[in-house]
Amino acid sequence: MTCREAERLVMPYINGSITDEELEEFLKHIEGCGECREELEIYFTVDVGIRQLDEGTGTYNIKGALETALELSRQRIHTLMLLKTARYAVNTLCFWALLMILVLQFRMWGQSGFLGL
Ligand SMILES: [Zn+2]
Repeated sequence: MTCREAERLVMPYINGSITDEELEEFLKHIEGCGECREELEIYFTVDVGIRQLDEGTGTYNIKGALETALELSRQRIHTLMLLKTARYAVNTLCFWALLMILVLQFRMWGQSGFLGL
């Protein structure tokens, strides 16, 4: 992902309209690119600031809030990856189970002379 693409995703990230695929790439870029991270921090600070005005809450740890948001995003991507792996494992298991059943079935037919083997 280029800085341009990452910049374009800053707002979607903050208002939560970013897709999971974009989020994964975005997090990777933010982790390695100080400029884009700074950009995100600025937008995040402004966003939190506005909401803070709306809600009238007191002091708020913005840097901590961004860290928390990023951590939650990382966990989300991690969970999605696990789900993807789990789904793949289940699919693979189902395939082998089906194959095993077929093999056993054919052997049984073979033994009973059904296929003339
Ligand atoms: Zn960048």
